[in-house]
Amino acid sequence: MRILVLNSGSSSLKYRLYERDAWTVLVDGVIGRIGEAAGDARHRWRDADGTVHERHETTPVPDHEAALRRLTDRLDAQGALGGLEAIGHRVVHGGERFHCPVRIDAAVIEAIREVIPLAPLHNPANLEGIEVAQRLFAGVPQVAVFDTAFHQTLPQAAWRYALPDALYTQHGIRRYGFHGISHAYVTRAAAQWLGRPLETLALVSLHLGNGASAAAVLEGRCVETSMGMTPLEGLVMGTRSGDLDPAVPLFLQREGGMDAEAVDHLLNHESGLKGLCGTNDLREVHRRIAAGDAAARQALEVYCHRIRKYVGAYAAVLGRLDALIFTAGVGENDTEVRRHVCQGLDILGIRLDAQRNATPSGGIRRISADDSRVDVLVVPTDEEREIARATAELLDSDK
Ligand code: ADP
Repeated sequence: MRILVLNSGSSSLKYRLYERDAWTVLVDGVIGRIGEAAGDARHRWRDADGTVHERHETTPVPDHEAALRRLTDRLDAQGALGGLEAIGHRVVHGGERFHCPVRIDAAVIEAIREVIPLAPLHNPANLEGIEVAQRLFAGVPQVAVFDTAFHQTLPQAAWRYALPDALYTQHGIRRYGFHGISHAYVTRAAAQWLGRPLETLALVSLHLGNGASAAAVLEGRCVETSMGMTPLEGLVMGTRSGDLDPAVPLFLQREGGMDAEAVDHLLNHESGLKGLCGTNDLREVHRRIAAGDAAARQALEVYCHRIRKYVGAYAAVLGRLDALIFTAGVGENDTEVRRHVCQGLDILGIRLDAQRNATPSGGIRRISADDSRVDVLVVPTDEEREIARATAELLDSDK
């Protein structure tokens, strides 16, 4: 049986088709530049004998409907559509309503629509993918897997902003958290790798990609996370500022002559590493540091300082710490960031092994020293696989 995972963005559709038995990826790819003059689609598929093929297409794709038609044609051409059991959709914002994956019906679609004001870019694109998939795959069960759901276990003390109550009750202004699909995947994978039940562990998970967030997970339940009402809060990111005195945007509007749109753009797209040193890519930050660039050095320091501060805070929230997990583009690959973050954390029982930290490997690995009280792990994330797993689990529980 097969499960198709769809991640529908405003101008792209990412997909992955799994053979459920061994979670083999049969076909995957991304249809990009939807609505632009030239398309940019990449497809990859695997033959019966295991040979991997790739194809790049530049034919324009006017909208999501056309993108999904393109995808079904491709899957059909590979004979991959037979045995399609379900489709799992990534949905960015589930508000307070969704604590776990759900079968999509009219009420679910309405609820996703209701939280559009909280995720004005993402939820409409996710919904478009869902609605087109419902038309093209009528009869195939569709499941929504939410980026926020994992964080719905946060205690009120963690999710409340210290604002007048009406702002929460009338407008839903509270902390929701994101990257939940990734934090769920890596914390479970880490527990399995350690050979200990997730329900016994106190974990801090650091998802460091272009977007970045931390999560504190106690006995399988998320109890703190660094992103808030939107993905802007928390860690320093590629182009997002993360935590900021809330007076800064007000100052920019009053004294800097900026309107709300301009401030939004500044904080989401021109800040973070990019704002500090001109590039959002840590590989480039390191190249510039090696060439003597002081701004790049400072950017790395600000970036790592913020992460270290969160690790300390989350150890306090958890009351103990069994493992620290690094994941996503930076977390999985950047030896220097991991070294910097863990430096001086002996006080928490964190001690890296320099050689393990510097030795790359494809899978999960321990990079802490043998005498480190806390296991420090690199765990490659796989959000599509988590969506597929969650979709399969929901279908099985419905049977
Ligand atoms: P996204 O949030 O877009 O899913 P990823 O998790 O793929 O992002 O992470 C992308 C970021 O990871 C890049 O912007 C870059 O800073 C960083 N990155 C990727 N590869 C490396 C590497 N080998 N070393 C250091 N940083 C890397």
